Amino acid sequence: MTGPTDRSSQSSSALRRRRQALLRQLPPLDAILRGSLIERYKRCGKPGCKCAQGPGHGPKYYLSVSFPGERPQMDYVPQEDLAATRTLVENFHQVRAVLEEVCAINRELLRRREAL
Ligand SMILES: [Zn+2]
Repeated sequence: MTGPTDRSSQSSSALRRRRQALLRQLPPLDAILRGSLIERYKRCGKPGCKCAQGPGHGPKYYLSVSFPGERPQMDYVPQEDLAATRTLVENFHQVRAVLEEVCAINRELLRRREAL
């Protein structure tokens, strides 16, 4: 990632090329999930179960998604969906990073009164 200082020292055509390269890095936009994966262990409470001594049964995974002014929503993620879910969550972070940098490039072009 280039900081704002690097960006302002680059030519406008270099910035546009960088913008194109960023778009090629975008994951498929239907393969994204906002949220974070969290791990939980639970004690079952059955008398004599060994989980009473340890952290509990698990790990079990949940997707936690926050909404403004609301409690985060938690969805259970079955073990067989864990790897795919993790990929989708990572894809979302990548999409967001790409959008941020494209916006920063466009802001720089705007400052230069250059074609967007
Ligand atoms: Zn138990």
